[in-house]
Amino acid sequence: MELIDGNKIAAEVVAELKAEVASFKGRKPCIALVRVGEDPASVSYVKKKEMTAAAIGMESRVILPPESISRVELLALIDQLNNDSGVDGILVQSPMPRQIDELEVFRRIAPDKDVDGLGTMNLGKVAQDDDTGFVSCTPAGVMLLLARSGVDLKGKHVVVIGRSLLVGKPVALLALQKKAGANGTVTICHSGTANLPALTRQADVLIAAIGRPEFITADMIKPGAVVIDVGMNRVADASKKSGYRLTGDVHFPSVSPLCSKITPVPGGVGPMTVAMLMKNTVKAYRAGHPV
Ligand code: NAP
Repeated sequence: MELIDGNKIAAEVVAELKAEVASFKGRKPCIALVRVGEDPASVSYVKKKEMTAAAIGMESRVILPPESISRVELLALIDQLNNDSGVDGILVQSPMPRQIDELEVFRRIAPDKDVDGLGTMNLGKVAQDDDTGFVSCTPAGVMLLLARSGVDLKGKHVVVIGRSLLVGKPVALLALQKKAGANGTVTICHSGTANLPALTRQADVLIAAIGRPEFITADMIKPGAVVIDVGMNRVADASKKSGYRLTGDVHFPSVSPLCSKITPVPGGVGPMTVAMLMKNTVKAYRAGHPV
């Protein structure tokens, strides 16, 4: 079994971006990070994004509207960032408070600044096998992890569990694309899927994006499979200072001995998500600064 080291691959991407950004004259790429309210996971994700931008030599603007912000006020903030020529990319951290329609927010971000790739235009480009847009960061990170680990999806049965807009659907579309490294045969499973283990046992590559701690167990795995665990679940753990531990959607101790390759949690997909956000922001900057 080989561990797919997301920390190492993400660090390589960050180093590549740092060298690229150092070569830019004048203003550096800038990402606006909007976090509404104080959700603890969002606080740590945005902090990590801010620190990674700084490590690359990029600018970031962290904007922290209160939990009570109205729909109209948040849309006005996005319009302002859309029109700000000093901002290349905009990320609005999910989850957003109840009064906010997340899809409306994602759609409001100008497609050329939608570095989180969740707007209609950029998701549509994924469906059209069009590389000119921004692929949402977690699915893009999964694909890069596979590519840099030497996993070619051509001829493979890829089973994705989860059909969210954030992960399941776009990663399934990417695996399906008629392109080098992709070209997989894809099955998408969800909570309405009958006899899930019978499908997961057919997977040469299993991508779990479920949000249920340690849901995937050894009896659901085909020996030799590649397993990508997108799950990031906080489970109460009194032995930890924080009071919780992070666990994936895969029961790592029983599943990992059966796999040819597997991502750990933490240290698998998570670091890639942040790195891909920065990669998209540099791409947005380049589009606005043709050489
Ligand atoms: P989500 O929006 O809650 O979607 C979960 C999906 O799993 C849904 O499609 C749901 O089916 C399916 N599902 C739930 N229970 C199931 C079951 N018993 N059998 C089969 N399918 C089931 O979650 P998400 O945003 O995609 O995130 C998934 C996980 O990835 C979470 O743990 C999240 O924290 C993590 N995540 C990690 C990163 C990262 O950077 N590592 C980024 C994003 C998300 P239905 O559609 O039928 O409800």
